[in-house]
Amino acid sequence: MSAPPPYPGNEKGMPPPNPAYPQQAPGPAQYSQPAQYGQQATTVVVAQPAYTVVQHFRESPVRIKCQFCQADIVTSTYYETGTLTWVACFVIAIVGCWIGCCLIPFCMDACKDVVHQCPNCNQQVGRYNRM
Ligand SMILES: [Zn+2]
Repeated sequence: MSAPPPYPGNEKGMPPPNPAYPQQAPGPAQYSQPAQYGQQATTVVVAQPAYTVVQHFRESPVRIKCQFCQADIVTSTYYETGTLTWVACFVIAIVGCWIGCCLIPFCMDACKDVVHQCPNCNQQVGRYNRM
């Protein structure tokens, strides 16, 4: 039986990989990125005015530069009757607590504004209004 084997076994007929395979010319490959050449990232430098420092006053003392005596201070705070104090007073009065309960907000610091004062020159440098 001289049936030819289905698999010849001779790898002679397989052509070798193309030796002249172009190795992707490295030169032009660098320019394959999108052309960002003409448009550089324009960095907009926002010049912040130094004199208007937006300071958000809260309940706790903050460290600021006093606008009156130009000293670097930590504000001293105290509570003062503010808008919310009166609003809370009226709300309590409307709800029905007539007998002195509407005066409670005047005793609660949480209902009062916080006044920030400069300990150096005793000027009011800020105020935290709760409304
Ligand atoms: Zn001051």
